[in-house]
Amino acid sequence: MKRMDPFGRTIDYLRISVTDRCNERCLYCMPEGYKGWEQKPDHLSHAEILRVVRVAAGLGFRKFRLTGGEPLVRADLTDIVRGMAAISGVEHIGLSTNGTRLAALASSLRHAGVQTVNVSLDTLDPALYHRITGGDVHRVLAGIHAAVQAGFTCVKLNQVLMRGVNEQEIWPLVLFAAEYGLPLRLIELMPLTRTAVLTEKNFLSVGEAMTLLRQHDELIPQPDWRLGFGPARYYRLKRTGARVGFIGAMTNLHFCESCNKMRLTADGKIRPCLGDHGEIDLRATLRATADDAAVRDRFLLALQRKPFEHTFRGAYQPCRPMTAIGG
Ligand code: SAM
Ligand code: SF4
Repeated sequence: MKRMDPFGRTIDYLRISVTDRCNERCLYCMPEGYKGWEQKPDHLSHAEILRVVRVAAGLGFRKFRLTGGEPLVRADLTDIVRGMAAISGVEHIGLSTNGTRLAALASSLRHAGVQTVNVSLDTLDPALYHRITGGDVHRVLAGIHAAVQAGFTCVKLNQVLMRGVNEQEIWPLVLFAAEYGLPLRLIELMPLTRTAVLTEKNFLSVGEAMTLLRQHDELIPQPDWRLGFGPARYYRLKRTGARVGFIGAMTNLHFCESCNKMRLTADGKIRPCLGDHGEIDLRATLRATADDAAVRDRFLLALQRKPFEHTFRGAYQPCRPMTAIGG
């Protein structure tokens, strides 16, 4: 059964943050590294996540994405995937990762039931990668290679755009993505945490990224491409053949019109919109009763409370890091 929000949008996509922990510390996300703002008992257990997925699937959710924090730091991730894949109604399981642990885990995650993987890759330059994330780009490249070998139906690359930091990396990433046949998505910085990089000076719009790309190649719009279930607008680059998606959450005023998702935070809150502070506590319900009807009611309440659009352009004040909300 399809579930609609008050604005007539079908909501069938749930992004689940399985942890707020991460082994990197990206400038735009968690620049000071993990501070332990959530204690482990607050995190939903493997069994609780599966219960939520079962209820969500019963309500018409079909697409699920595991994210974080870095989902691959969670030791029981493969078991969670296997459990989800066995739930009736679950049609798609995707994963968002920084890729650093993918080389070891890609094959088992694929076998467990992950269909598609998004890997964050802001630059190919090892020194710059280290500056942005604190990590080692060679591990990510090994992870991407393993993901391609493992046979996921799609492996996408994500670059967060930062003026003065990595705009010169857009074209090398396009060439890399084209060489390996992987779609690349360029993402506008969103005010998700209070970090030094989140200034107007550092903000680079997808429009400006397009202008930069047009100096190298012709961009041909592909309005029919839906490479996944997200809001990216795709283009094919004529000469290189690259597939590039633009995620303009800040500058595209129609961004929220086709929104199809809600989020489950690592500590068990349903977040109807990434860019709105409203949350509905699910964890207390999960722990108070074995009755799934109560969990279902919380979901329906969240659906009713889904706002028409995010408030990033207005008075939004970051307070909960994206690692906790689930990117
Ligand atoms: N750790 C995984 C990763 O890095 O892909 C999954 C979680 S991460 C929060 C999910 C996505 O959110 C990544 O593509 C990341 O680049 C993006 N992201 C994080 N903070 C952001 C920000 N302030 N603005 C835009 N995108 C952001
Ligand atoms: Fe970690 Fe991903 Fe956030 Fe980077 S974007 S700090 S890899 S959760």
